Amino acid sequence: MASQVRGVVATAMGAPVSVVTIVVPDPGPGEAVVKVQACGVCHTDLHYREGGINDEFPFLLGHEAAGIVEAVGPDVTSISPGDFVVLNWRAVCGECRSCRRGRPQYCFATHNATQKMTLLDGTPLSPALGIGAFAEKTLVAAGQCTKVDPSARPEAVGLLGCGVMAGLGSAMLTGAVGPGDSVAVFGCGGVGCAAVAGAALAGASTIIAVDLDPRKLDLAEQFGATARVDASSEDVVAAVQALTGGNGADVCIEAVGNPLVLEQAFYSRDLAGTLVQVGVPTPDMRIDLPMIDFFGRGGRLLPSWYGDCLPSRDFPMLVDLYLQGRLDLDRFVSETITLDDVEEAFHRMERGEVLRSVVVL
Ligand SMILES: [Zn+2]
Ligand SMILES: [Zn+2]
Repeated sequence: MASQVRGVVATAMGAPVSVVTIVVPDPGPGEAVVKVQACGVCHTDLHYREGGINDEFPFLLGHEAAGIVEAVGPDVTSISPGDFVVLNWRAVCGECRSCRRGRPQYCFATHNATQKMTLLDGTPLSPALGIGAFAEKTLVAAGQCTKVDPSARPEAVGLLGCGVMAGLGSAMLTGAVGPGDSVAVFGCGGVGCAAVAGAALAGASTIIAVDLDPRKLDLAEQFGATARVDASSEDVVAAVQALTGGNGADVCIEAVGNPLVLEQAFYSRDLAGTLVQVGVPTPDMRIDLPMIDFFGRGGRLLPSWYGDCLPSRDFPMLVDLYLQGRLDLDRFVSETITLDDVEEAFHRMERGEVLRSVVVL
């Protein structure tokens, strides 16, 4: 029978979130109910609350989560009750034109649960990124559950579910950083610091952190940055060139979602270099570049959604690297909080005080 649990809901544009009782149905075909153990607070949750994603209020927020499978639908064989899973928002369909071409990381028809979680009065909830994990339990598609090593710490590995994976993948997968590459990362919040960590894991020999905030630059150095550029006082393009033999970086990763930063990253590339954009822009933003520079400098310009990850392939591997001490996911966890603290955590995130606040249940 359906469960009643506590969850963090955004009811109206810009209004503070509240913890209310929600109804989680039993899993139907292709679905699973997961007992959430930890869920990180991401900028995307705040974007939902501000109406920046769509206006399908009320939203059940939270989407960077790990937990234990409690129940599965009648036809589900990929996971079982008791499995430790990281939730993902890329449950690939296996049938769309991208999946059929062997590129499931670009799946155009990813799965979410079919049934709706609701408020007590029956109002259907829109779960953030099809997950909704600021709740004691959530209903997802079975494919959104990726089994990983159960000895991992939920508050650390749950972050692979969104922002940290986006950053790691922007360097390791989209940017295809390799041994000896020079990399510059623009914006060193959670996603940018993960891009720094991914570049370090992939063997980059020069990793330049660029940010306006010295606290963020300190953090980036802890994740493996070898040099820093203070964008509040330095000419960013000239500084990146000076740190790369006058040439510019092989791979520039824009992790802010800002047209001016994108332009800096574009011009901080070496000839034939790669520009990766993983920061999420707002609909009003525009870019204006001389087309001759676009053409004349060559190379690759690549947007990166979710770091081009394939959760079933990448989450277990990254959790193994974490458990081996080669990927410091614990360092992303700035603080642990309760469901009741999410609104305040949004403010700390806006003030740049945390990489990730993580709700622990
Ligand atoms: Zn597909
Ligand atoms: Zn996120």
